[in-house]
Amino acid sequence: MRLLVTGGCGFIGTNFVRLVIDRRPDITVVNLDKLTYAGNPLNLADVEKTHGGTRYFFEHADIADAGAVRRILAQHRIDAVVNFAAETHVDRSIDDPAPFVVTNVLGTQTLLTAAREAGVTRFVHVSTDEVYGTLGPEGRFTESTPLAPNSPYSASKAAGDLMARAWFETYGYPVVITRCSNNYGPYQFPEKLIPLMIGRAGRDETLPVYGDGMNVRDWIHVDDHCRGVLLALEKGRPGAVYNFGGAAERPNLEVVRAILRLVGKPESLIRHVTDRPGHDRRYAMDFSLAAQELGYAPEYDFERGLAETVAWYRNNAAWLESVASGAYREFMQRWYGER
Ligand code: NAD
Repeated sequence: MRLLVTGGCGFIGTNFVRLVIDRRPDITVVNLDKLTYAGNPLNLADVEKTHGGTRYFFEHADIADAGAVRRILAQHRIDAVVNFAAETHVDRSIDDPAPFVVTNVLGTQTLLTAAREAGVTRFVHVSTDEVYGTLGPEGRFTESTPLAPNSPYSASKAAGDLMARAWFETYGYPVVITRCSNNYGPYQFPEKLIPLMIGRAGRDETLPVYGDGMNVRDWIHVDDHCRGVLLALEKGRPGAVYNFGGAAERPNLEVVRAILRLVGKPESLIRHVTDRPGHDRRYAMDFSLAAQELGYAPEYDFERGLAETVAWYRNNAAWLESVASGAYREFMQRWYGER
């Protein structure tokens, strides 16, 4: 199989490319990435070295650029697409929603159109539990929970999902949509909760926690998510939506405290800051459909996964520093400074 992975230089895409290269010798991967602030080709430098030009190819391009996407699909004779490419940070979407609409909506539509025209017979669109909105203290999201996104990020992802759905309903195009809860693990950009807190605690900086810190997320190790996406690619029913979760609901404050314990720093570093506007209270995933149809089950225990993740960031401090460019620092300072 010749597989196009979009957004392969981001957090989950990097881990997915590594999984496919390691576990599926019959798959050739073409990684199409725009290299936004969140994309780092160095994440895959070792894969480029060992498999570049044989089983791994990199294409610097934008999924919203129809001409570039058409050329790449044709040149590499692509048979399947997994679409990870997206603008992904909720706070940035509140600050400036426009790039989210361009990539997550127009980009998804452009990719769907080009893939269908090129005769690509498999398309997995990767999405998020955030499209379902927020939960009260009870219950879990299922695939039939109505979409009720609350942030510009989740609204743009929901719109992309609806494009993917329409390609199946209108054209019979065999799209599979996956929706996943909050991921953690190696190579995550340090604006997201877990690497942000590990990095700041390591530098003895304060740890900004939104509101009372009791917002609950269903944490999933990125390897479990990537295994789920690979199952969806190989076994997913055309037109289906599959939820993936980690069966590890934790309030943010508990996650931050666990990180402090793991890095040996005091809880006095925690600072409660004004809550994020429209901050969803609780997410939890019912992934029984993926369990039944795909044989999906998360393998990671959260405490083990978090300890391994903290160790990875501590052993890769140079990576953390290198991705935190001047532009990133400026955004973080402005965002947390203002709030
Ligand atoms: P990320 O921000 O770390 O990486 C996104 C990647 O996409 C980057 O490499 C970036 O350069 C690339 N990209 C952005 N715009 C592009 C464009 N127009 N054309 C080509 N490439 C572009 O994101 P992530 O956390 O790895 O998330 C990947 C996907 O998984 C996203 O679709 C996201 O919505 C979804 N998702 C993420 C999570 C999570 O917890 N991180 C959970 C569920 C779903």
